[in-house]
Amino acid sequence: MRAHGGDDVRPGVGVRGRSRDDAPALRRAFLSLGSNLGERAAALRTARAALADLPGTTVVAASRIYETAPQDVTDQPSFLNQVVCLDTVLEPRELLAATQRIEAAAGRVRTVRFGPRTLDVDILLLEGVASDDPELTLPHPRLWQRAFVLVPLAELWQHARGMPTADVKAMAAELASSQDVSLYVAED
Ligand code: ADP
Ligand code: MG
Repeated sequence: MRAHGGDDVRPGVGVRGRSRDDAPALRRAFLSLGSNLGERAAALRTARAALADLPGTTVVAASRIYETAPQDVTDQPSFLNQVVCLDTVLEPRELLAATQRIEAAAGRVRTVRFGPRTLDVDILLLEGVASDDPELTLPHPRLWQRAFVLVPLAELWQHARGMPTADVKAMAAELASSQDVSLYVAED
């Protein structure tokens, strides 16, 4: 795990959000939520509430919800996708463990990779953190290829802080021209 963008990562000095008395860093994060089984919109709502309940964590903003045809394994129901922006004092591994607990609580059973799921929570970006660890890769390895991630992320990009510099709006528009992603209108 290393900081990108030339941040000084010596304990207690220089890292934005970390005070000199070693209080935990408050980091901004973008997470993606996805669901294609059961009550999809309810699963996203429950996930947002569970994220807001995490210790030292505030939800800054949530994108609109998009509906997406499945991509890698196409013989499955369509997905609802949303991106959420958080501020959290949780360390990267703690945040990953928390998201996995939230997935499990939503009844997620891991079957085939990219297969149907009641809830998928991925960490897209975490302020000042880059990692090529397969258990927690940051930025998320497929972030830049997927319209269902970039389109909702573009809605929230004004909240980006300590993230790679990228024209997310242009990249999202480009991907949306070739991938099926549409604004979700609730049935009720
Ligand atoms: P996917 O989200 O790729 O469809 P899973 O949700 O089953 O698949 O996640 C598979 C593994 O990906 C997890 O066990 C987790 O450790 C790992 N992983 C690596 N980087 C990340 C990340 N940025 N966010 C969430 N999980 C990640
Ligand atoms: Mg995942």
